[in-house]
Amino acid sequence: MSAIAPGGRIGILGGGQLGRMLASAAAELGFTCHIYCPDEDAPATHVAAAATRAAYEDAGALARFAASVDVVTYEFENVPAETARILGEHAPVRPGARALATAQDRFVEKSFLASHGIPTAPFADVSSLDALEAALAAIGTPAILKTRRFGYDGKGQVTIRDAAEARPAHEAIARAPAILEGFVPFEREISVIVARGLDGHTAAYDPVENLHKNHILDRTFAPASIDPALAAEAGAIAARIAAELDYVGVMGVEMFVLPVGTGPRILVNEIAPRVHNSGHWTMDACLVSQFEQHIRAICGWPLGDPARHSDAVMTNLIGDDVNAWPDLAREAGVAIHLYGKDEARPGRKMGHANRLYPLGKRPSPEA
Ligand code: AMP
Repeated sequence: MSAIAPGGRIGILGGGQLGRMLASAAAELGFTCHIYCPDEDAPATHVAAAATRAAYEDAGALARFAASVDVVTYEFENVPAETARILGEHAPVRPGARALATAQDRFVEKSFLASHGIPTAPFADVSSLDALEAALAAIGTPAILKTRRFGYDGKGQVTIRDAAEARPAHEAIARAPAILEGFVPFEREISVIVARGLDGHTAAYDPVENLHKNHILDRTFAPASIDPALAAEAGAIAARIAAELDYVGVMGVEMFVLPVGTGPRILVNEIAPRVHNSGHWTMDACLVSQFEQHIRAICGWPLGDPARHSDAVMTNLIGDDVNAWPDLAREAGVAIHLYGKDEARPGRKMGHANRLYPLGKRPSPEA
C-alpha cells in the first residue's frame, strides 16, 4: 500500500474542533482538506480548502465528496454505517467500518473487549425493564444505566443506587436499548492515545489523567500519576485494542485505575475511534501531535515519535471560560487554542489552553 504524498487531499467527515485541528495538522504536512458536514459555519471549514454542506444521508453528495479526495476520515464516532459504506466505494475510509461498529455501541464495545480478555466493569445488555431488573440482581448497586448508542459527556446515563429505581431510570433514558454497568470505585481516570499505521506499527503517547466537571472533561494531566509498570500496561492494552480492530489512525482509550487489591488494576471504559480531547496536550508537549499522528497514519506514512518533551496540563475552555483569553494571552508558558465558534453556550467546548512544565514538574491534580 503506497503512501499519499504531500499535495494529496484528505476528506474529513464532521466540522467541529477536532476536524479543524486535523485540517491544520494536515496543512503542516502539505495536504489540503475537504470538510463534509451538515452545519453552517462549522469551525473546521474556516481552515480547510474545500467544504461540502450536506446531510450524512445524502448519497449523491457523499459520493461526490469521496471521489474528490484520496482518503476519508472522521472526527466523530457516530458516522452511520451506510454513510461509511457509500464513502468506501470511492476512497479508503480510515479508521475502517469495524472500528466504527465496535465503538458506536456500548454493548458491542464491551463484548469485544471481554472476548479479548481485556477487563471492563461488569456489564449486561438491557433491552427491557425485565432485563434491567435481572441485570440489577446480577450486578448489584450502585450501577450505571447507559444507552447503547449516542451517549457522550454523561448524556444518556443514569446512576441507579437502589433496585427500586429501575423503572424511573428506564424511563429517564426513554426505554432506549442500554447496558447496565457496575459502578467502578476508581482511584483515577486515565486515557491512552494510541496510533496504528497502515503497516500495523503502533505508537502510544504516555497515559494521562483526566478530571471531569459536570460530566465534561475539565483538565488533563500529562503524564498520569501512575507507576511505570502500570503505564506500560495501559499502553499495551491500547495497542492491543488497535491491533484487534485492524485499526488505522489515532484512537483514544479511556480507562479506570483501581486501587491496589485483588483484581486487575486497569479497566477499559470506552474506545473513541478518533482523535480525543484528552490528547490535546500533545499539540505542545510532543514533537508530533495526535492530529499530525492521525494524518500520518491514514496517509500511510510512518508514525511520528510520541515522546513527551514536557509535562503538560490541558484545560478545556467551556462556555464563558473562553472570555478569559486576554489573561491567558498575558500568561507565560501557556499555548492557547481557540476553535472559532461564534457563541459561547454553556457546556460548549470553545477552546483549550496547554500549560507546559519541565519533565517531572507538573502540578498535581489534587492541588
Ligand atoms: P462514559 O460516557 O462511559 O465515558 O462515562 C462518563 C463518566 O462517567 C466517566 O468518565 C466516569 O467518570 C463515569 N463513569 C462511567 N462509567 C462508570 C462506571 N462503570 N463506574 C464509575 N464511574 C463511571
